[in-house]
Amino acid sequence: MPKKKLSHAKSIQRTKTIVDLFVSLLIVGTLGYLIKDSYDRSGTVGQTQYADLSQVDEPTDPAASLDPDAIMFSTAQVSTKDKFHGDLILVNNNHEYFSSGDEDLVSIMEMNDANGVDYFTAVDYTYTIMRPAYDAMAQMIKDFYNKYSNDTLIIYGSYRTKDFQTELYENNDPDDEDAPLVAKPGFSEHETGYAFDFSETENYDYDGTGDFEWLNTNCYKYGFVVRYTKDKESITEIRNEPWHFRYVGKPHAYYMTKNNLCLEEYTDLIRNEHPYDGTHLEFSDEDGKNYEVYFYPSNDAEEFTSVPVPSGRKYDISGNNIDGFVVTVYTDEKVDPGSEHPTEAPKTEDENSDSESDTDNNDDEQSGEDYSEDE
Ligand SMILES: [Zn+2]
Repeated sequence: MPKKKLSHAKSIQRTKTIVDLFVSLLIVGTLGYLIKDSYDRSGTVGQTQYADLSQVDEPTDPAASLDPDAIMFSTAQVSTKDKFHGDLILVNNNHEYFSSGDEDLVSIMEMNDANGVDYFTAVDYTYTIMRPAYDAMAQMIKDFYNKYSNDTLIIYGSYRTKDFQTELYENNDPDDEDAPLVAKPGFSEHETGYAFDFSETENYDYDGTGDFEWLNTNCYKYGFVVRYTKDKESITEIRNEPWHFRYVGKPHAYYMTKNNLCLEEYTDLIRNEHPYDGTHLEFSDEDGKNYEVYFYPSNDAEEFTSVPVPSGRKYDISGNNIDGFVVTVYTDEKVDPGSEHPTEAPKTEDENSDSESDTDNNDDEQSGEDYSEDE
């Protein structure tokens, strides 16, 4: 009998403890929500005309600070139309490219001249490409040259304006079975400035064999994928093109290559399986560097979208050219909270307004060439 009584008392005590715990959690949770709410609001008050990615709000998740290794998230105000820009945008027959007019393009041959690079070239000085893609490409070809002493590579296709793509498209004979496949104007990956085509100066061909096999096998280490392969033809709707490389950045090139995903598949994987409020895609590359990737939908009703970003970690934001943003967290790279800048964030409108003239030159001078290339 006393035993039972004791047990009953214990039970009451236990219930009381549980109730206490529950009330405590409720209070902490409510407090957390209120704090989070106020931070969220602070992110949308007094916003400037253009997205200022350097202005990051305070962390929104106080509970996460209990774990010193947990990543806390704050929000960055990103121009909603920047979902059409960045190195992960998907451009294909179904997804048009919308130029911002301020692409950070550099002349390949001018860059080579400035850097004393003589182990590869482009057709002429009008061939331009996005700056990060140039840097990665030049490093890749340098390593290739050091390995094989082969200096015959030439960039035979790079950035194209929509006008130039129109010209290629209109001059292409769709009834000629040997004619190259040319994408509709607005739908060529070349218009993004993140793609280039290799050829070689001996007979103007490149099939990724012999010495060149090294490039097709190792390009992911530099942030490139071979965009159109035979086994993905039914998805990309572009035939096998071993000469066409696309810059997507190192973490993504690594993951896509190791998991045999083309950009269509990878884009869908991120937006469908790895939303911000779900399970983020976490992986390590072969150097042991850790990454976390997630999707956040664009707020198309508003000029700006509050994109959750890690506080105290380096990150990038890219649009996916469909419905939102892909955030890449460099998990190992700690930075002072609030000072982190996306390294390749889409640019705002007021930068690089002088690139327009390069663009125009491209049309006029490239049009005289005899193109045997692609999409
Ligand atoms: Zn190409």
